[in-house]
Amino acid sequence: MLEDIYERIVRIREEGCRECLKVVCRMDDFQFNQLMSRLELQIEITSRYSPPVRPALDPMISTELGVYRGDDENIGRLLGYPECCIRSFSENTRYAIDGEHLAEVSELDIPEGKCAIIMPSGFIPCSLRCQEAWERKLIGFADRDEFRRILELEDELRMRLPHFHLAYDEYFEKIVLE
Ligand SMILES: [Zn+2]
Repeated sequence: MLEDIYERIVRIREEGCRECLKVVCRMDDFQFNQLMSRLELQIEITSRYSPPVRPALDPMISTELGVYRGDDENIGRLLGYPECCIRSFSENTRYAIDGEHLAEVSELDIPEGKCAIIMPSGFIPCSLRCQEAWERKLIGFADRDEFRRILELEDELRMRLPHFHLAYDEYFEKIVLE
């Protein structure tokens, strides 16, 4: 949940910094408050759509937090990723949704009516069957209606939280099922 990320960031700021997320404490109040109100807006928009899994964190916030600059472990924990998935990502065994992930689709029990598997963009599970990732709602199924709303949510997020991180245009990873 985005709310959990919000709380973790606030806690880091209050408690002073652990090793690698010093950036959270180094920001001045103005910058920090701006970032948090952006996250509040993302939470507010997202809650109106109640998607089966949360969207990726706003790319501008991610950039400020250094999400794209390495330190996968601390960032992964901040984002609520399971340890097994953080490990497989940082050991570079699975750093993108790959053919193996797609092959795992056939090993899943797909409920009637579901047309896609959804994940927050940027989250790469150790396996599509990673139970911890399902429990934390980082992998989920969507039916047609949910899928349409996910696209609408992405549109609204793009419109109301503009950013210039062109490489990160999608908030959800979508694997469309046959
Ligand atoms: Zn995992």
